[in-house]
Amino acid sequence: MSNPDQIQRILFDELDIRGVVSGLQQTCADCFEKHNYPAVIQQVLGEMLAAVSLLSSNLKFEGRLILQAQGQGNVRLLMAECTHKRDVRAIARYDGDIPQNASFTELLPQGQVVLTVEPEKGHRYQGVVPLTGDTLAKCLESYFISSEQLPTQVHLASDGERAAGMLLQVLPADGTGEEDWERISHLASTLKSSELLQLDNQTLLYRLFHEENCRLYEPDSVQFRCTCSRERSAASLKMVEKKELLEVLEEHGAINVNCQFCNADYAFDRTDIEALFSEGGSAANPDQLH
Ligand SMILES: [Zn+2]
Repeated sequence: MSNPDQIQRILFDELDIRGVVSGLQQTCADCFEKHNYPAVIQQVLGEMLAAVSLLSSNLKFEGRLILQAQGQGNVRLLMAECTHKRDVRAIARYDGDIPQNASFTELLPQGQVVLTVEPEKGHRYQGVVPLTGDTLAKCLESYFISSEQLPTQVHLASDGERAAGMLLQVLPADGTGEEDWERISHLASTLKSSELLQLDNQTLLYRLFHEENCRLYEPDSVQFRCTCSRERSAASLKMVEKKELLEVLEEHGAINVNCQFCNADYAFDRTDIEALFSEGGSAANPDQLH
């Protein structure tokens, strides 16, 4: 496959076009490990993971990029995110029967795709695209044209066990000749999903662009890593009325906050909750991970 668990930029000499290619294998396995997703959900989440890893190559600050696909059918939400450190995670929310072999848009009737860019400091930015076209790749292409006026070509492939993607985009500069973009995008349009999943990056580059002056940058590694923590769980509890939390404690003896991405469980007892709501107090004790 394209180099597993790496993202790698493509440099086109003298062209105002950027490229990036990504491959996820162990990352997919780690993301899906704690969940018993149907094959079709794993396949689509794989594409979403490939997509966020590609898009993260454009993050210019510390933060994360979140891709959500929402629908009105049995699949309500598919979500994948990637941080500036290339830490990714994903989740699916669904119930009932999930049609096998359904396309992206069939899985998410009357759906939409929401792309959120969330800097650690500063305002988040959100763009919404209605689900048109059959694939996530087509949705993302129309998103870039409509919201940023940047001609973009996106390829995504996933077999549920591994995923890969390639993105080509006109740089927001004045110079690009339309002819350059037409030539490069035409060459890339011949890429098949099977090739994207099977060829290593160097071979892929040669297969598509051997007549162009282009090369690969040093790769960045991509990995599954959940950003949940005891501190974040405590912060979310602080949004709830103390009285309500005490009632839960009364009944269950402890409050368990479960992370739906990685299944980590953070338990809070009465002392923790009292400390959380006392002035300046915090139940967060980094050494006490449950
Ligand atoms: Zn987690």
